[in-house]
Amino acid sequence: MFAEVVFPNKFRNPFTYSIPNELEERARTGMRVLVPFGKRYMTGFIIQVKEENNVEEKIKDIVDILDPKPIFTTESLKFYQWIASYYLSSLGEALKNAVPQGLDVETKRKIVADTDFCRELFEEEKPGTVKAAILSVLSEKEEIKLSQLQRLVKRQSIYSQLRSLQEAGAIEIIDELAGAKVRVKMQKFVKLGLPESEVFEKLPELEAKSEKQVPIILELLGRSEKEAALTELKEKLTLSDSPFKTLAKTGLIAIYDKEIVRTHEEEYNEEEKKLTITQQQQLAVNSVKAKTEPFDFEVFLLHGVTGSGKTQVYIELTEDVLSKGKNVLILVPEISLTPQITARFLNRFGDKVALMHSKLSLGERYDTWRKILAGKFNIVIGARSALFAPLDNIGLVIVDEEHDSSYKQNDLPPKYNARDAAIMKANMEKFPILLGSATPSVESMYNAETGKYKLLELTERIDNARLPEIKLVNVSVEQKLKKMENIFSRQLLNAIEDRIKKNEGVILLQNRRGFATQIYCEDCGEIEMCPNCSVSMVFHVHKNILQCHYCGITKKPPKGCSKCGSVELKYFGTGTQRVEDELEYFIPEIKLERVDSDSINRKGELGKILNRFREGETQVLVGTQMVSKGLDFANVTLVGVVSAETSLWMPDFRSDERTFQLLTQVSGRAGRSEKPGLVLIQTRDDSHFVLQKVVQNDYPGFYKREIALRKESSYPPFSRLCVIEAKDSKKENVMGGLQEFYNLLMQWRKYIDVHPPAPAVIEKVKNIYRYNILIKSYKDIDPSGKILREAVQESWIEFNKLNRYRELRVTIDIDPQSML
Ligand code: ADP
Ligand code: ZN
Ligand code: ZN
Repeated sequence: MFAEVVFPNKFRNPFTYSIPNELEERARTGMRVLVPFGKRYMTGFIIQVKEENNVEEKIKDIVDILDPKPIFTTESLKFYQWIASYYLSSLGEALKNAVPQGLDVETKRKIVADTDFCRELFEEEKPGTVKAAILSVLSEKEEIKLSQLQRLVKRQSIYSQLRSLQEAGAIEIIDELAGAKVRVKMQKFVKLGLPESEVFEKLPELEAKSEKQVPIILELLGRSEKEAALTELKEKLTLSDSPFKTLAKTGLIAIYDKEIVRTHEEEYNEEEKKLTITQQQQLAVNSVKAKTEPFDFEVFLLHGVTGSGKTQVYIELTEDVLSKGKNVLILVPEISLTPQITARFLNRFGDKVALMHSKLSLGERYDTWRKILAGKFNIVIGARSALFAPLDNIGLVIVDEEHDSSYKQNDLPPKYNARDAAIMKANMEKFPILLGSATPSVESMYNAETGKYKLLELTERIDNARLPEIKLVNVSVEQKLKKMENIFSRQLLNAIEDRIKKNEGVILLQNRRGFATQIYCEDCGEIEMCPNCSVSMVFHVHKNILQCHYCGITKKPPKGCSKCGSVELKYFGTGTQRVEDELEYFIPEIKLERVDSDSINRKGELGKILNRFREGETQVLVGTQMVSKGLDFANVTLVGVVSAETSLWMPDFRSDERTFQLLTQVSGRAGRSEKPGLVLIQTRDDSHFVLQKVVQNDYPGFYKREIALRKESSYPPFSRLCVIEAKDSKKENVMGGLQEFYNLLMQWRKYIDVHPPAPAVIEKVKNIYRYNILIKSYKDIDPSGKILREAVQESWIEFNKLNRYRELRVTIDIDPQSML
């Protein structure tokens, strides 16, 4: 028997391995295997088992099978194949998403050096060469991992140098098999070894013999579950191992291994409300239900204003689908940031629900994943990667806040969009999918308008709550009237003070973290920049440091300008810390907490902050866009936006859309009960179209102009975009490489628009230069994007044959979310 195996790297073709007799029984499609590859061992996926083999070369044996049962089926393989072909990754890269992190088994290469010999060679070598750099490291270190050496000499391809050093006898290259990082967690447990009555009979005899063994028996008899963890018992009874061992020998107790399932405790909790569903909610539920009897594919777009009770629609539908014997997958933007929807599902469905968190430890993630695979859950809630959870028999997928850009995978290939891929999955497996949002993406609304999706609307807030009143505060005008107190208008400050007196909640948005976002020299105009990235350093007042938000490096704030030495330094731009600081200055009695990635890095921290906010222990939340997502607190009557400008004016065709969404979403946190809500948005440009539409709560008006603009300039949904990005530490490499790529793509210019290579908006991050090619393909010429994919794929293959640019990192992004 033979197996076709693909690898989680950029190789496009499968490789054939033979299955040794002893593994033949177990080898099946969907399992991970360990196989020799060149001089090392790699983990791959079996995508086919077959009897014939038509490969001529010598075929190697599979070394081991790593899974007890398949982690994907022949059926779901089709889904991964679609992902790979649409987002132009290899199949193995797509399948990597099916496996929880930390399960890879691979060989780690290490180098053992004769340091004295290396030092001799180093002294003979011409300084400045790669070989000299390698030798300088190896004359100090006797043992080093290959990857570490590569990092130290800042170069990937050092094999030829290493080979010649090995031939010279200066080093030895050794392969070590490194096991998976996560394992099933086992613990020793103790239980009675005989039926209770027999144990009682033996007690007197035991009492006479040993006083240490009796308490163990009594303890076990006293437990309702009749078992206990060994370590726990030892601690409780202050005993060593030996009385346990003796007892086990006599058969009175048994010691055995038991799996410990690692679970994550949610910090946020609230009481379940009993609700009767409203008529509008019922209509939405009924429309989707129609596609569950029998189950069939259809995309529904639920456009419900903020506070219209979308979560309840999700819950009702989930209940219905479960009652029909199918499972439900729920995607949310970032689960640790949306504890309320999670809490509501847990209240209603309890341990039927699995959560896939970014905050889970590797072990917790692995255990949850295995329980899903074993069919122990009916509902999976998670961020984009939950799309690949091994939940079978799905009857409905819900994508909450479908407009959110975090559904797009941005770092590793395939750069998939979980919302779009979920639609494809629903289409393949024939079940309905529900996309929900108060501010649908322009693409989804266009699909609803043209009849591709079915539009469902919730136009009213629950309990007759009114949408908040939204006002713009023009800070330039207020400044002239002397009504500004630093970053705050008197109006906003007064409103905050008023709410605090009335014991009502306040949410303030400032979409930048840190204190000041720029340090600027008044004499020469110099801005303190990050030495590694083309962005300015951000001042963090609590730690008194400057930090780069791209590479993370920090330094002390300068005493004078680093260019001219002048001490006339100004701190510009406002971050959340400054908002916090100034509020505490103007309103000393304020009870405030900050919500941004600086304050929320610990597990469950947001849940705790929200618990305190709900209880009224905290009155004001100040935060980045984290405070705009889904928060539902009846007591919040005021929302303030310190500066609307932080997201307008980004050089991206989606910046208006993002601004509209962010401001509408954060406004929606106010006035969610009988108490009316007020939103104050500070801006320098109160006539801006987007802000006007936010104030008027006019999604249709915003959409109408936006879709016209998209059409005029042929942006999505009227075209399909692809960005080819190249990165390298040498600017000439990036530019030269991309120019070659561009020339290859230009052969397709009859069908697609190819823009010449240009630096990314942030040209340098961590000393790595980033350049892009933007490709547009028009829906009338290339409706399915097939030509675009073929053009890029072909060019990419040709490009890879050019040896000159082997070091260049090139990535392909189909349907990019951001052009930054
Ligand atoms: P959205 O996600 O649409 O902004 P939520 O789902 O958070 O809104 O619902 C807003 C509030 O309305 C929640 O507190 C929820 O408990 C409540 N709610 C939802 N449906 C009903 C209903 N049918 N009757 C009473 N209250 C409801
Ligand atoms: Zn200066
Ligand atoms: Zn930096």
